[in-house]
Amino acid sequence: MRFFLSSIRIKLTLWFGLALLAILTLYSFGLFFFMRENLIGEVDRKLWEDVESVQETLQDLPDSSAGLDFSKYKDSSAHDVRDRWILEIWTSDQNKKLFSVPNKIESPIGSPAPSECEVRRGSPRDFRSEDGLNLRTLCSKVEFGDRTAFVRVARSSERALAELRELLFMILIAAPICIGIALIGGYLLARKSLAPVIDMTEQAEKITADRLSERLQIPNPNDELGRLATTFNRTFERLEKSFKQMKQFTSDASHELRTPLTAIRTMGEVILRENRNPEEYKEIVSSILEEADELRHLIDSLLTLSRADAGQTQINKKKENLSEVVSEILDHFEVLSEEKDQIIVRTLESDFFANVDRSAFRQAVINLVVNAIKYSPNNSVIKVRTYLKESFACIEVKDDGPGISPEHHSKIFERFYRIDSGRSRDVGGTGLGLAIAKWAVEAHGGNIKLVSEAGKGSAFTIELPIGV
Ligand code: ADP
Repeated sequence: MRFFLSSIRIKLTLWFGLALLAILTLYSFGLFFFMRENLIGEVDRKLWEDVESVQETLQDLPDSSAGLDFSKYKDSSAHDVRDRWILEIWTSDQNKKLFSVPNKIESPIGSPAPSECEVRRGSPRDFRSEDGLNLRTLCSKVEFGDRTAFVRVARSSERALAELRELLFMILIAAPICIGIALIGGYLLARKSLAPVIDMTEQAEKITADRLSERLQIPNPNDELGRLATTFNRTFERLEKSFKQMKQFTSDASHELRTPLTAIRTMGEVILRENRNPEEYKEIVSSILEEADELRHLIDSLLTLSRADAGQTQINKKKENLSEVVSEILDHFEVLSEEKDQIIVRTLESDFFANVDRSAFRQAVINLVVNAIKYSPNNSVIKVRTYLKESFACIEVKDDGPGISPEHHSKIFERFYRIDSGRSRDVGGTGLGLAIAKWAVEAHGGNIKLVSEAGKGSAFTIELPIGV
């Protein structure tokens, strides 16, 4: 039952029916009262005409009622009660009836005479005769010469009431039929309008994780449902893209994890195969430790990215002197560059402040500096510069390494993307360094840019908005 009532089709139909019922009720009431006013008004109008006509007749009289000629008021209505017409003329003291049609002693519209109050009211009123006939009566004081009389007329309102009853009957018969037709029509209309939604639901249900490339059909992209379907399709597109990225990431991560693990296992097997001298054992164990270090570094990087993806990494910005942070990093990594006889040239602005999360900022700069050291040849120069450009604090790391040809520029920041994977692994790369740097910089609302050509060295620049 709840499902039945919560169906939009049923709701629309019921609302439609209710609205029509309200309109019909209002219309019927209006029509009924308008007709009633008209029909009863017509009877009343005739009553006033009767009074006027009697008054005119009375004014033409000499002095006494004995000579009254009321022959034109003959009782012509007796044969049909619906045309009943009653006229009474009473003396001013209301004791004596001078004339009446039909000519009866007893008044069918109330005896003895019209009361003062009836006269004072002066407007037609309803009256039900003893034989059950509905009448409209009107009393009026009529003056002629120096005399006064009371004229009382009554007309049957049966015809008007019969017409009103007929109208009411028609309304009562027609209204349910109209509402019934409206409900059926409303239901069919709602079903037809909502058919594309049902279609869309069925199609959307079929789009599962392994069928994310499917899309909803859009018969009319410009109507409301077409726009809804377009929005759904865009969502499916984004979902498909993230799913693909996730799958790629998982398979890349497994592959990267397997490489050092396989190396560790192979080295273990080699040690166990035959007895070796202590020097050889030392060498193999230190290689195993190196691989384990690689593995730890890879897992750390993966964790950094997955936390960032899950929105679990908080960026707590504080005002920092960026030149100082860069300088500390360079002090730390100079040992690494000295191993390759590289020289790091620093051109650092003093008092170079911006709001940054120290840890994320350090991570981004470290990754650039380490890459420059890793990929540049021995005896080369690495230049690190901080400078202000418009409202951005810029940190540039420039090397004389192999450079990166333009076709790799857009992909270089993707996870696990390497230009030369063998070489990257040899120098301890995970393929995640630039992806982490990009995430850290973008989390500050900044950009990371690359200017490089194959064979001409590379310049990576971090641009951070100062005020933010
Ligand atoms: P990796 O850990 O492999 O260095 P990165 O994400 O830091 O991963 O870098 C991605 C790839 O970009 C590297 O494998 C390397 O091929 C290239 N790359 C990064 N920095 C430089 C650089 N300074 N000079 C030349 N190539 C670079």
